[in-house]
Order: sequence, then structure tokens, then C-alpha cells
Amino acid sequence: MFPIGHLSAGYLFAYFFLKRVDVEDRRLWLGIGTFLGLLPDSDCLAYPFLAAYVGWDRAILVSHHAWVTHTPLFYVLLGLLVAIYSRKLGCLVTGESLLHLLCDSVVPEDGIMWLFPLSYRKFSLCPNDLQGWAWISFYVHTYGFALELALLALALSIRRLDLYVHKHIKGDVRPLSEAQGLRDVQRREVHSLRGRSRPGGTSLSHVHAERRRDLRAYGLRVLALNG
Ligand SMILES: [Zn+2]
Repeated sequence: MFPIGHLSAGYLFAYFFLKRVDVEDRRLWLGIGTFLGLLPDSDCLAYPFLAAYVGWDRAILVSHHAWVTHTPLFYVLLGLLVAIYSRKLGCLVTGESLLHLLCDSVVPEDGIMWLFPLSYRKFSLCPNDLQGWAWISFYVHTYGFALELALLALALSIRRLDLYVHKHIKGDVRPLSEAQGLRDVQRREVHSLRGRSRPGGTSLSHVHAERRRDLRAYGLRVLALNG
């Protein structure tokens, strides 16, 4: 699958993932999730090094789907490692990568080694062993490329709908991150005021008492002026 299909699928996965998971900066997570959809294909960065040894003609005939970086086990382990730092990010890494591998198995390509390391057999809905330019010129005329365009259209439609809902229906024209950040600051202020109960400290009831005193003083001044 081309990057356009993986990025679109990555955005859609991140969008629905963030419907179930609370994060502080939704826009940032949406961006990270979208690019994580392309994570397994980062192994393509190895091609220039491979070409340095065997030449580009032979390097582009090597399928990166036969590398460990395109196996489910690799991303389950990577997700577990990332989860030590952040569980949400670990889930997103594994989820996005498994979706990437699923997409690679559905379109006409050589397939994915789903059972690695038990088996090196590649599984594909429509097995095709073409590589390099031969595969690209064949692929753009298949349902796989149509699926990529459909994913792109769906991702763009959901993005527009998401922006419309936040701007016009929820009435919040600020970026989501800013709005959520402000809400968090307000919540923290209230918590900190509630937490301070020592004598002489500022508590919520103390603030209310001060406000009442100010209002009373203002009322007395108004009466004196009128009287
Ligand atoms: Zn891939």
C-alpha cells in the first residue's frame, strides 16, 4: 500500500481511538497517530544502505515485507516497551502498526508474515510477487489503489466534519488543545483552593466570604451616597 492509504487509515484509527481515550492535547495525538500509521514502512530507510552494497536495480527487488520490521510480533513487543512510558501511546503504536500490516495483507502485494517466528509464510488476500516499478504500474490499476483513495476520501470527510462540529455546533472556535488546556487549568485552580484548608491559607469558602464582604461594603457605600 502507498503512504497515502496508510496515513489515511492511521488518521481514522487515531480518530476513533481518541473517542474512547482522554488526552490533554487531542490535536497532537491525532497527528502522532496519523504518522504512526506509516511506522512499519520506516524500514524503507534501509534501502539506500542496501543499494550501496547490491545496487538499486537489485535492492528494489527485495521485499521489506520479509523483514522483522513488518511482523505483528515486532509491534506487539514495541508497544509493550512504549507502554512502560505511556500506556496510551503503547496502545496507539501497536494498534496503528497492526492496522498497517492488515492493510498490506488486503491489497495485492506479497503479504505479511502473520505467524512469524513460527512460520515465514506470507499471507495476502490477493498474493502478488511483483516488486519495484513493475508492482507500482500494476498496482495503480487494482482495487488496492481504489481502496486507498476511498480511505483518503473518508479521512478528509471525517476531518471536515470534526472541524465543523467543534466550530459551529459546540460553539468552540479555539483549537481543541487550547480549550482543553484552559479547562484543565480551571479544574486545577479549584482543586488547589479546596485543598488549602490550613488557618490563614486561602480556601474556597474564604474566597466566597471575601466576595460577600466586598459586596456588603459596596452596598453600604451606595446607601451612604443616596442618603
Ligand atoms: Zn508496509
